[in-house]
Amino acid sequence: MSTFSDGTRSVHAGLPEPVVGEPFLPGPVFAAPYHLDPATGPGTHGYARTEHPTRELLEKAIGALEGGPALVFSSGQAAITALLLAVLRTGDTVVLPADGYFTVRAFAEATLRELGVKVVLAPTAGPYPDLTGVRLVLLETPANPGLDVVDVRAVASRAHEAGALVAVDNTTATPLGQNPLALGADFVVASGTKALTGHSDVLLGYVAAGDADLLGKVETWRKQTGAVPGAFDCWLAHRSIATLDLRLARQTANASAVAELLLNREDVTGVRWPGLPSDPSYAVASAQMRRIPGVVSFDLGSAARVAAFLSAARLVFAATSFGGVHTTADRRAQWGDDTSPGFVRFSCGIEDTADLVADVTAALDASR
Ligand SMILES: *Cc1c(COP(=O)(O)O)cnc(C)c1O
Repeated sequence: MSTFSDGTRSVHAGLPEPVVGEPFLPGPVFAAPYHLDPATGPGTHGYARTEHPTRELLEKAIGALEGGPALVFSSGQAAITALLLAVLRTGDTVVLPADGYFTVRAFAEATLRELGVKVVLAPTAGPYPDLTGVRLVLLETPANPGLDVVDVRAVASRAHEAGALVAVDNTTATPLGQNPLALGADFVVASGTKALTGHSDVLLGYVAAGDADLLGKVETWRKQTGAVPGAFDCWLAHRSIATLDLRLARQTANASAVAELLLNREDVTGVRWPGLPSDPSYAVASAQMRRIPGVVSFDLGSAARVAAFLSAARLVFAATSFGGVHTTADRRAQWGDDTSPGFVRFSCGIEDTADLVADVTAALDASR
């Protein structure tokens, strides 16, 4: 399948060989334990925390798109914390993004420091500290919510020279936007809750790795701590991946039009979209990414104007998370992260571009 293009790969990712009279994507298997052979004991499937056929098909799909075997988790946070706790030990140093997903920093503050892990924060756009003595570097690119981009190849080569492992949070880009394993990362972590599944109805996370031994540690961690997703969520996620290429194509087209529109308005500041030639991330993003995601960020100056904009818009739902088929916008400061009061993370859905542009324009005018 790897010789086909993105749309074909999305549709066929992880599907089993066709069986006459059976669906293309087998339905979810609802099981905790399975029947055992009374004489020989466990065969391929014994207990669902360890082995599950619906989950395994989804892992095959994600692994095919990422370019390395994958393990799915019950949320993105479960996947990221599994990687951190499976790899890091007391006395280790970890480098985390200063401007990435805020719960990762909160986890480092609350748990990693207490375990005696030294936490160093680095801005996604750099500069990166000396990596001597570092065990793991976690990158997030494009970073959520500020959308800075880091040259994964360059940091991975510096990290490997220093003996450090590299993980990349691929949530915002998705595996059709970039393949961190091919860029030199040892691990990919991601939330599948966002654009990967894209319907705002599933929590999911995954860890992928180029090296089976490295992933084995994470698998043991998952088996012993138990953060596996349920069968129905795995099936919903797999079903949704079939349309990933189509959804991303429309989201990117919408983001391009929205970013252009915002850039040309005097009442909007700080417009960021790595696909804009004037964006600070443009050069690295165009060299490294296969497509630019549908998330745009900007500043409307105050919480009141964001509220007025969202009330006036008919096609923009106020919601956190991003990457779904519906256009949503999130004023990040309401969650207590360190963005300015009027900062908005805007996630383009798959509505018609002209409708979305007209609605955003009208809502900005009405909220002036
Ligand atoms: C949402 C998100 C996460 C956490 O994912 P959940 O599925 O909500 O647990 C991690 N990293 C990034 C970049 C995210 O956007």
